[in-house]
Amino acid sequence: MTARGPSGEPVMRAVVVHGPHRMALDERPRPVPRPDQVLVQVRYSACCATDFDVIDGTMPDQARYPIVLGHEWSGEVVEAPRDQADLVGRAVVADNLVTCGRCPACLAGRPNLCPHMDELGFSLDGAHADYLVTLARSVRVLPAGVSLQAAALTEPLGVALYGTRRARVGLGDRVLVLGAGPIGLLALQTCLAAGAREVWQADRKAERLALARRLGAAATLDISREELLPALARDGLAPDVVLECSGSPEAFATAIKAVRPGGRVGVLGYYADELAQIRPSDIMMRDLEVIGAVCPTGAWDAAVGLLATGRVDTEALITHVLPLERFEEAYAVARSGDGAVKVVLEVSPP
Ligand SMILES: [Zn+2]
Ligand SMILES: [Zn+2]
Repeated sequence: MTARGPSGEPVMRAVVVHGPHRMALDERPRPVPRPDQVLVQVRYSACCATDFDVIDGTMPDQARYPIVLGHEWSGEVVEAPRDQADLVGRAVVADNLVTCGRCPACLAGRPNLCPHMDELGFSLDGAHADYLVTLARSVRVLPAGVSLQAAALTEPLGVALYGTRRARVGLGDRVLVLGAGPIGLLALQTCLAAGAREVWQADRKAERLALARRLGAAATLDISREELLPALARDGLAPDVVLECSGSPEAFATAIKAVRPGGRVGVLGYYADELAQIRPSDIMMRDLEVIGAVCPTGAWDAAVGLLATGRVDTEALITHVLPLERFEEAYAVARSGDGAVKVVLEVSPP
């Protein structure tokens, strides 16, 4: 049943960040799609560590307040452009980036670098709401057998997939993944899918490392108990690639030292304004490549396809599912990290 406002207009619930540290569940008018947009009824929308930066005000260049949070989601199309009417009723995900399509970056196939870029959940209203609107051309229909809950994590899977590609992880590589949060645990799986020989995973939380082993990590390093570099040296581990997924500047500095000479360091974490202490000579003298990866660029079709093959398990990461109205509790659980990997808001279950 459609909720109505005082003058009969359709309304919806939305988790809105009005400014730093001001978050509320509001009643808002239901968005009306433009001719090139779809209206989506959101089913699931996950909490992400990047949301903390929007909530805390530490992403001033990206966040535009007031903003509806939520960029990891799945839903069902309610309204579609006339020439894409077959989308109505389909279970979908969609690329969150809205780019100009005309600048040199867009034309070079790197829309994630578009200077005119907007993104759902940051500068355009996102998915922690009953409904969202987004470009019809950005929509991906879910293949049979992919659940809406699994698909809610397509965006972070795409981030991991893009980072894996950017760092050119391939057949026979030995990879060290720093951080066993959602991106780290997805990167573990995309590296294995890409043909990595072994993936080692480091984190401070034993339960996350246990999950990493269940998902295929050859070895795990608990850095709350032992220092990473001596442990690698003791075991004779010299990774071809290190993927830094923790967002800790110290971990970034460690990645530079841990990778083998001639190796590659993929930077998938976000560090806000924090600085890292590195010795640039380590990069020059050891012939390293340090490679950034931002947004799931060109990775949506592959991410959805990987989900359908079952070679990547996103649902294994979901530790909590809470109804939308319990968003404050959801973020408290996600922030504490205690026993939580991915916290998903159930907006309107299928
Ligand atoms: Zn995210
Ligand atoms: Zn552009």
